[in-house]
Amino acid sequence: MDVGARPSVATTCPYCGVGCGVLARAEPDGTASIVGDKSHPANLGRLCSKGSSLGETVSLDERLLYPVVDGQRASWDSAIERVAGAFGEAIATHGPGSVAFYVSGQLLTEDYYIANKLMKGYIGTANIDTNSRLCMASSVAGHKRAFGADTVPGTYEDLEAADLLVLVGSNLAWCHPVLFQRVMAAKAERPDMRIVVIDPRRTATSVAADLHLAIAPETDVPLFAGLLRHVAQCGRLDEFYLDRYTSGADEAVAAAQEWTIGGVASATGLAPVEVAAFYDWVAGTERTVTVYSQGVNQSGHGTDKVNAIINVHLATGRIGRPGMGPFSVTGQPNAMGGREVGGLANMLACHMELANPAHRELVQRHWASPVIADTPGLKAVDMFEAIHEGRIKALWVMATNPSVSLPDAGRVDEALAKVPFLVVSDVITETDTLRHAEVALPAAAWGEKDGTVTNSERRISRQRQFLPLPGEVRADWAIMCDVAKCMGFDGFDYDGPHEIFDEYAALSALENDGSRDFDIGGLTGLSAAQYDMLRPTMWPLPRDGRPATRFFANGGFYTPDGRGRLLVTEFVAPEKRAARYPFTLNTGRVRDQWHTMTRTGRAATLSAHIAEPYAEMHPDDAAELGVEAAELVTIESPRGAIIVRALVTDRQQCGSVFVPFHWNDATSRGARVDTLVAPVTDPVSGQPASKSSRVAVRPFDAAFYGFAVTREKRAPDCEYFARATLSAGHALEFAGRTLGDPRALAEELIGTDALVSVVDEAAGSFRFAAFEDGVLVGAVFFARGPVAVSRAWLTGALGQACGHAAVLAGRPPQDQPDPGPTVCACFKVGANTIRAAAVKGAVTVDAIGECLGAGTNCGSCRAEIQRLLTVAEVTQDRVRDDAEVGA
Ligand code: SF4
Repeated sequence: MDVGARPSVATTCPYCGVGCGVLARAEPDGTASIVGDKSHPANLGRLCSKGSSLGETVSLDERLLYPVVDGQRASWDSAIERVAGAFGEAIATHGPGSVAFYVSGQLLTEDYYIANKLMKGYIGTANIDTNSRLCMASSVAGHKRAFGADTVPGTYEDLEAADLLVLVGSNLAWCHPVLFQRVMAAKAERPDMRIVVIDPRRTATSVAADLHLAIAPETDVPLFAGLLRHVAQCGRLDEFYLDRYTSGADEAVAAAQEWTIGGVASATGLAPVEVAAFYDWVAGTERTVTVYSQGVNQSGHGTDKVNAIINVHLATGRIGRPGMGPFSVTGQPNAMGGREVGGLANMLACHMELANPAHRELVQRHWASPVIADTPGLKAVDMFEAIHEGRIKALWVMATNPSVSLPDAGRVDEALAKVPFLVVSDVITETDTLRHAEVALPAAAWGEKDGTVTNSERRISRQRQFLPLPGEVRADWAIMCDVAKCMGFDGFDYDGPHEIFDEYAALSALENDGSRDFDIGGLTGLSAAQYDMLRPTMWPLPRDGRPATRFFANGGFYTPDGRGRLLVTEFVAPEKRAARYPFTLNTGRVRDQWHTMTRTGRAATLSAHIAEPYAEMHPDDAAELGVEAAELVTIESPRGAIIVRALVTDRQQCGSVFVPFHWNDATSRGARVDTLVAPVTDPVSGQPASKSSRVAVRPFDAAFYGFAVTREKRAPDCEYFARATLSAGHALEFAGRTLGDPRALAEELIGTDALVSVVDEAAGSFRFAAFEDGVLVGAVFFARGPVAVSRAWLTGALGQACGHAAVLAGRPPQDQPDPGPTVCACFKVGANTIRAAAVKGAVTVDAIGECLGAGTNCGSCRAEIQRLLTVAEVTQDRVRDDAEVGA
């Protein structure tokens, strides 16, 4: 494909479940220009910092470009034969249950469809699960229990139309930024709209809250059970809706009676007045939407949390009408597509049930397949445990990195090393999972793929190809079809993704008289050209019926009796603080990184925001432990230990720590937080509880701390490092228990012995830098405590002409202001610059935008700007505030 003068292509962002439309154009220099698609209904032209930086991630650096078998470059034929042979041999010897696929919400729907067809219809086992199990399986299970199907009842417009928006366990501002911007725009237009944020932490989203309920971790069930009791007590039950369309209300309301406001306050740690205010707001507001995300789902009782929320909406009849309803937001770009296509080990394609013989017969008939799996397969956590037990002999991992992202990640990594045959399809050469693979298959990346994804509001959009397939890279569906054919299976001949989509759409409509929610029969029969032109389309879209944007306003549930179910939900009290592991570990995302950083970690713009992993901890906890801001801490669980930076902030509750999960062995050492997480799962959904493991925290006994900027990618030999991408090289934070020869280490990191230096041995301070023709090519700083230099300036100085004295001082010359840590990635505006503008009178986010531009492009940073403008918060953000580090 000639990329010289190609026009923009309308495609979809590959990061989160908002599913923003993107106009992308390949540039001759190998980058891509990216703008938001104003015609896409999800974002109407907006993009967040991650979406805006997509053009920085499409280079071919570190791309896996050809198949690798046993560490050697191989032909596609030999790689396919090896995979088909290993899977065939395992099946012949040990049966279909001895093989498994672990796939991903990064796959396109067409890829997912083929993976399921091959595993469930031809190999004959349901041992296929997806990393979406980690993000929304509890929502799926809760929907199915309440609605009889995995149906998201509402749309994004409902969030904008609500008079009361309740955000539960959702840092929307950082994790679904464009949806958050839509909400903020709606609130600006209708200031009476209220927002309640329910989250143990005060997050960027809380800045927008009219009421922030900082509940104790894992206490959502009593909060919502108490709310059900309250709406019943004040006569807000919708008796007509309950009588006509639901079942289980009496039992659910009766079970909720124990949750008085006092009881709820005691369980959640909230003040009774806060609980009462929230309850009164909900009771008095017809147009209420409850948005929930990982704080609800990633729990040992996440499904009960989901049903406690849905109970309130069913009980008040606030569902399926504009501005009302429960609404789960999905983490991944195609988590919804995976659900629709049966990507989970207990489902069949098109929302059909593995446990339903009629559904199995229908799917098998449509596929004309030799078999159909009839029992649920291994869910994510169980799949890797089955490897340890010797039950899985061959595993295919596609587009995901379980060695980093699954709970008890160290044990998962051991399983990956142990499984007799591992094949990994990925786009890059270096991931923690890929290092164990017998066969590595080069898959198409975003921009090279062609297919569809579905976002959180059931909107199917095209991901279109705008870049040529590099090297020998192939589409995931094509790779799987070749393996299937090599295994001797018919039914895998497709001319392109449009043919797969057509088969899938036809299955959704097959004998579907409205008894199944997922019906896209109206999209059958598309030619390749029509498929290519497909506009973003919300399902259901039946062949002959009218499309519906919302479900359940007038009943029509998919349960056997057609009634929505209210359930009795059970509160499992969190474990008491144990002496050995007194802290609750909460894991999650940061604003500008995605998953295990395999893509976003390549963008210098995104690394400028938060460049290393950290632990948010309360000042009282830090004081008790003797931890100063920006020092390193060791966090330990029975499964392992990690080292991360302390971010001391009263945004965190006492007794809890929050650690982002992005960093991995390729970008850091000693910082994979999922190695600490207990493999506890929800008994209904199988979703891991990633936010409530018990851990201990103690200061890391560092003999030295280091900071470096280098042209080459380096990994110092010490206990801790974290590396970030810069436009001219890399930044390194590191620390260790013993420091040998600092000069020798500096020479190794910079790659030259021609160093200038300032050394104060008595103080333990060593500073080295190297220049070529006046241009900074590297600098390394050592200190006994956290290194106090301006990282924002030094990272920008790398590759630039600058003075020796300023570099060794680690500060810009006096005539250059120090911008401070980056807050606005789009316009590269730092915290110090914003503070200086505030001192001069720009005291609102809009005023900062007017004078600095910050927050006026993608808007992802607006909540942080607001926080910086709140005087009480200014001194809290110590980890990134270099001026204060080591003070
Ligand atoms: Fe991509 Fe950001 Fe939109 Fe999510 S909100 S789809 S990450 S641009």
